[in-house]
Amino acid sequence: MLAVQNLEVVYDDVMLVLRGVSLQVEQGRIVALLGANGAGKSTLLRALSGLLDVHEGRVSRGRITLDGEPIHGLQASRIAERGIKQVMEGRRIFAELTVEENLRVGAHVKPRATRQNLDRTYQLFPVLADRRRKTAGYLSGGEQQMLAIGRALMSDPRYLLLDEPSLGLAPMIVQQIRDVIVEINAQGTTVLLVEQNAAMALSIAEHGYVMENGAMVMDKPAAALLDDGDVREFYLGLG
Ligand code: ATP
Repeated sequence: MLAVQNLEVVYDDVMLVLRGVSLQVEQGRIVALLGANGAGKSTLLRALSGLLDVHEGRVSRGRITLDGEPIHGLQASRIAERGIKQVMEGRRIFAELTVEENLRVGAHVKPRATRQNLDRTYQLFPVLADRRRKTAGYLSGGEQQMLAIGRALMSDPRYLLLDEPSLGLAPMIVQQIRDVIVEINAQGTTVLLVEQNAAMALSIAEHGYVMENGAMVMDKPAAALLDDGDVREFYLGLG
């Protein structure tokens, strides 16, 4: 289990952005993390994957544990070795490299398993197999998102942290991404899914959290969140 207890994060040594946040992601699950822009979702993912320091941020209080062992303060590469991998918002792929080169870059953690993971990624995203020799910069937005997810899968993570994978994509592509997340989870990878598209996220998650202003304000089964008046009004637009 991946667990966060009472986490505080500051940026630039002064700006308190997470104010005592707790969350639990049990192995095997899909867990949704919702919240408005600026609520602190990306910051929480960065803390989990060891990428805070790249953004001049640090954990000032609290704990992050993986199967009971503290992991905060470890470098991103160490955390990746333990099986936690983040797909950042905005599909950061290497635009000049081919699709397959991008995927091979993602395989650095377990080089020997590369072939197997390439096959798995191409099976999940046949469109990437078709375009394996294409320059990644020429892919559509949806294909680039698939490539970003595929690259993270190349290290065969136990926990996949997805930061807004549906952002800016057409409904049909969002549907495809949704189906693939379900498949990745069915194959044994635990997923923490940050989404503005609450309907999509809650349709596949067992459990959900809602953040506001750097605090966790809801922690419920997805079905209960779908029934909650505030969630329906503010996140699902159902009033
Ligand atoms: P979004 O959906 O817009 O990414 P979010 O919920 O993921 O929103 P964060 O990106 O975690 O929110 O941002 C939380 C707060 O931290 C915001 O007030 C943001 O301005 C601030 N913040 C984010 N990154 C940095 C940084 N590198 N330095 C300083 N402040 C930051």
